[in-house]
Amino acid sequence: LQKRYAEELSKPAKTLDERRIHLYLNAGLLSSLASEIAEGADGVGLYRTEIPFMLQTRFPSEAEQVEVYRQVLDAALGRPVVMRTLDVGGDKPLSYLPIIEENPFLGWRGVRLTLDHPELFLVQLRAMLNASGEGKQLHILLPMVCCLDEIDQAIVYLEQAYLEVKQDVHPNLKRPQIGIMLEVPALLFQLEEVAKRVDFISVGSNDLTQYLLAVDRNNPRVSTLYDSYHPGILRALTQARLACKEYQLPISVCGELAGEPMGVLLLVAMGYTQLSMNQGSLAKINYLIRRVSYQDLSELLAQALSLANGAEVRELLTLYLREKG
Ligand code: PEP
Ligand code: MG
Repeated sequence: LQKRYAEELSKPAKTLDERRIHLYLNAGLLSSLASEIAEGADGVGLYRTEIPFMLQTRFPSEAEQVEVYRQVLDAALGRPVVMRTLDVGGDKPLSYLPIIEENPFLGWRGVRLTLDHPELFLVQLRAMLNASGEGKQLHILLPMVCCLDEIDQAIVYLEQAYLEVKQDVHPNLKRPQIGIMLEVPALLFQLEEVAKRVDFISVGSNDLTQYLLAVDRNNPRVSTLYDSYHPGILRALTQARLACKEYQLPISVCGELAGEPMGVLLLVAMGYTQLSMNQGSLAKINYLIRRVSYQDLSELLAQALSLANGAEVRELLTLYLREKG
């Protein structure tokens, strides 16, 4: 089985009608990253920097962060790495930064927190830039953005960090690409303005689902309502893709949906060509993509969008996958 997986991964993920889908890894731990990348990912589509922070008992120093980020960039073998700035708060606590809130998912999380603490934000940005040095493909991603002002502010800090690292450490440092997570629904309606500010966006379908449906992603009482196959969510994802095409803004998906066979059928049909997933999904998704055609999937998507609820969509997709073997 191992051998078969390795064979699958060595082939580029292309549909039967030659549409190349780039598959990236979601990562947060370093342990096996190098071998995972070498096994056939096109890069790291989401590096969750909060994971190394959560493993510590205090904020890691700039030097410590440089070390971790350098190892990630080295493991990527020159392929692109999308590093997300600290995304704590909500469901991701830091023991050394207790946050007590009645409604943490609507509270102080992601870029809201780092913009309130420029000293933390600047250290992290400098560490990323320092680690990337010259020649690495570093992309920086901002989590939980809800307003254009947050992007503008973050870009000011990034420019400051860039100039400092360029002056002090790497004279030939290039500016990294900057992107935001699409997780807050309001931004679905401001993509034209977003496109003027950033180089790419990445759909966080986990949080986007939670906020579009008003369902806490970790509350077991409402877990049956938490459904990324809800036709309303699928329409939002379709519209996001269409808007990004119009505004020439590269878009990828890094939520769990991008690593699920049923989700991939729909995302590919919507026109997404960049998907980032956990290592365990990579071979399976590669295998699937090479057995479907974009044209056929368009019909499947049209059918899915016309259904009444997520259960019906999943039933349709399950049948389709079964037919495909
Ligand atoms: C998401 O929200 O879909 C996402 C990828 O971010 P996280 O799961 O880390 O919140
Ligand atoms: Mg998220």
